[in-house]
Amino acid sequence: MALKWCCSVDIQNQRIELPILKEHEIDLYIKREDLIHPVVSGNKYRKLKYNLLAAIDQGFEALLTFGGAYSNHIAATAFAGAENKLRTIGIIRGEELRSVWQANPTLREAHRTGMEFQFVSRVAYRLKTTESFLDQLKQRWGDFYLLPEGGTNELAVKGCEEILQTGDAQFDFVACCVGTGGTLAGLINSAQPHQEVLGFPVLQDEGLKEDIPTFVKQGQWRLVWDYHFGGYAKVSLELVSFINDFRRETGISLDPIYTGKLLYGLMDMIVRGEFKANSKILAIHSGGLQGIAGMNSVLKKKKLPLIEV
Ligand SMILES: *Cc1c(COP(=O)(O)O)cnc(C)c1O
Repeated sequence: MALKWCCSVDIQNQRIELPILKEHEIDLYIKREDLIHPVVSGNKYRKLKYNLLAAIDQGFEALLTFGGAYSNHIAATAFAGAENKLRTIGIIRGEELRSVWQANPTLREAHRTGMEFQFVSRVAYRLKTTESFLDQLKQRWGDFYLLPEGGTNELAVKGCEEILQTGDAQFDFVACCVGTGGTLAGLINSAQPHQEVLGFPVLQDEGLKEDIPTFVKQGQWRLVWDYHFGGYAKVSLELVSFINDFRRETGISLDPIYTGKLLYGLMDMIVRGEFKANSKILAIHSGGLQGIAGMNSVLKKKKLPLIEV
């Protein structure tokens, strides 16, 4: 069974040349998973792959999933579903969006691709995994293949196990950002015994400590909690200027919700001397660049500097 897809997954590691890295004798490479596809980028492609194959294989005609207004997972599901002739339904957090969603670039694009929306209150959204809520959804939308919020389940982790390639065994550390932890789990499962995998949570969610082990067999890994900038989608002037400087100096765009925090954190740890000289680090660029437009509209309203694109 082949998945209809329109993108290349022959991904390169790009060496980062910055004076700070030379000074601390650190080799830093970025795996450019962001180049997989502009919408179904990075880990969202990896997480959808085996789920879409399962949905098609089991004869489903619709995908239903959950997300917030700027969700990369919503954007990716809409696009990947359309490519594979599956109807897509997005259960979106926030009733207030019902009248204004057209002003949101992520939702506008997902809708243009064919996604249908149901806006639910934050209270209802919290109950989204209960039997009774799922029954209500079935009544309204008919039968569907359910993708959890953020797309993390066992098949998603299996897809993320394909991020690391044999040549990546040369690295001492593999680093990624963490939302639900599915990507981190896939990296841990496929890392070599001599490698340590570092996960940088982008929100303060203590539950990650219990969730991640349920998907992981063994391996050396830890969570680095110092770089979430106060929570999910929280940004500071310092983070925005870091993202803009990084792009000017390396040519690589980062998003403010995920990969910006990862690279900010890694560079800060390097400057603080937390990695031995001659360490080789591979950072995973998990994509998410579609989210920049949404964040820029928020920054603009607050009259703050924008992320350059
Ligand atoms: C969704 C997302 C993540 C988080 O992935 P998890 O598997 O949920 O931890 C990281 N980076 C980007 C760019 C994302 O869109």
